[in-house]
Amino acid sequence: MKLTVPSATIFAMAFYSTSAAAFSMSKQHLGRNVVSNAAKIFGATYLSAQAPVSVFAAKGALPTGKRAFSKSTSTALNMADENKEAPFKTWTFDNACDEMEFNELSEASISITDDLSHLDDSDLVMFGIYGAEEKEDEENDKDGDDAVPEPALVGEAKAIDEMFEGALTDLLMENFKAFKHGGSVGAVTPVLRIFSGEKTKRIMLFGLGPAGKDMEEGFVSKIGKSLASQCDDNKKVSTCSLVLPAAFSVDDAPLSDLSSEFYSTLYSDNRYRTGAKISKKAEDLASITIVAEGGVSDVSAASAALESGKNLAVGVALCKDIVNAPHNVLNSESLANAAKRIADESGGLIKCTILGKEECEARGMGAYLGVARGSETQPQFIHLTYTPKSGNVLKKVGIVGKGLLFDTGGYNIKTAMMELMKFDCGGSAAVLGAARAVGKLAPEGVEAHFIVAACENMINDRAVVPSDVLTASNGKTIEIINTDAEGRLTLADALVYADKEVGCEKIIELSTLTGACMVSLGKEICGVWTDNDDLAEDLADVSKVTGEKSWRMPLEKSYNEQLKSKIADINNCGTRYGGAITAALFLQNFVDKKPFAHIDIAGPVWSDKDGATGFGAKMVSEWVSRQGKSE
Ligand SMILES: [Zn+2]
Repeated sequence: MKLTVPSATIFAMAFYSTSAAAFSMSKQHLGRNVVSNAAKIFGATYLSAQAPVSVFAAKGALPTGKRAFSKSTSTALNMADENKEAPFKTWTFDNACDEMEFNELSEASISITDDLSHLDDSDLVMFGIYGAEEKEDEENDKDGDDAVPEPALVGEAKAIDEMFEGALTDLLMENFKAFKHGGSVGAVTPVLRIFSGEKTKRIMLFGLGPAGKDMEEGFVSKIGKSLASQCDDNKKVSTCSLVLPAAFSVDDAPLSDLSSEFYSTLYSDNRYRTGAKISKKAEDLASITIVAEGGVSDVSAASAALESGKNLAVGVALCKDIVNAPHNVLNSESLANAAKRIADESGGLIKCTILGKEECEARGMGAYLGVARGSETQPQFIHLTYTPKSGNVLKKVGIVGKGLLFDTGGYNIKTAMMELMKFDCGGSAAVLGAARAVGKLAPEGVEAHFIVAACENMINDRAVVPSDVLTASNGKTIEIINTDAEGRLTLADALVYADKEVGCEKIIELSTLTGACMVSLGKEICGVWTDNDDLAEDLADVSKVTGEKSWRMPLEKSYNEQLKSKIADINNCGTRYGGAITAALFLQNFVDKKPFAHIDIAGPVWSDKDGATGFGAKMVSEWVSRQGKSE
């Protein structure tokens, strides 16, 4: 639809961007003075008295599928034609894949300013609005709209409303029910479009919730998330501004949360799609500008906070990449190569050591090697060491992640959910994602060891069978009752290494360890087991800050009865009751008396709707960054 109208009239239309049918739901004829005001406000000098003003309906343009693939000359998918470029790297008939592609973050920049002239160049302008303070007695008063004071447009939003003869007020009033308290944080009104010449500008009101409730937990993250969603939903937006009213104190806001959530929301995994199936989020977006009407007292500190959030998002993206990658791409060897890449990118702050089969044998890692024995690819024991730039180390900590690149269950083969078992490397994903972020965030005072005993739980004629007895590197013998309780076997040797060989003072360990933990805590909360109250408190605090929910669980010692073996020191599996607790108790056998926490992330690692969640990467990054500061 294309309409041509005389320049003296400008149409401002509000419509839901997702619905072309709603295009004409609200149309206002605005006078000649509005046109010249628009020119003044937005520097829209192309609005001349004679030139026609065109109105375009939403074009519904589809994203174009352009991307660069990593080249691979011979893969499973191009064996028929050696010259054909494969869409992604995978195995050849004789060799496993040795490389996993990383998704890069959106190239859009985020900056902060107090200069309102940035609005002139923005395709999409969002005005943050607060609603009236919520009063308790209004909660149950469903028809009480009359009693609620109207949310007030202030600052630049008010100026523009006046210039457009109340268009923003109309928008607000049409959506009064949702916005009477400033909306839920990040909720938006329909778009008000201003059409002029070849360009259109879009304006929305952006909910900041009721006044006086800002900076609550997750508040700033919600803003970042919604900002990204709006830039994606509103197609062809290249430049976007979010105007924060003077009452919003950017100096008190954790701006890193905003940018980390912004970039994480724009993550999309197109590595295994082709042509029209490739869909990038907000692919035309070049820049976001946060315009603080109340001023920014230290622009460089605020910009640094935005940058650190972006660095965190780089780690979260890698965490998702690892969990999402299928096993024919991601095996122990390609994961080890991803770890090497993290070290290469760190500018010398991270050193990568990979222990191969012989080195693991020399250390007596019989539990880990027992699991690895059934797979095509060799075991790869990954150890990344982060050292701060100054070399000044107050704490030496270990972070161990379970890295089962695929878990078939082994001879106790899984009968359910096997297609999801590529996510059994979720612990290693959080640990390596965090390592990548830590390499960029460069926290001082802490030396961090990121450790993954990577392998697959597969079946061949060498794979372990139930009743086998393995010896871990601390000399403990383990009877295998169930080959599907393999994660803890790999962790046993990884924990001994972190404790005894590296000498970490504190260790946390993340794993998709038990279905029992999912049964207990559901899909959003991870379980934390530790005997150390200080460590438990630290982790609870970190989890609050990052928004990755956790809950401390009991290490009930009497359940050790279930781990008694008739033939070995312990067995690897208790009964189905309290299975997450006996798994945690099992791990206690491999760390000597020092602060140690086991974190079971089997529930939150995966979303049935969106795939990998990136859970744990922020938690580990934040925990590591804090270690150099404490005491
Ligand atoms: Zn298993």
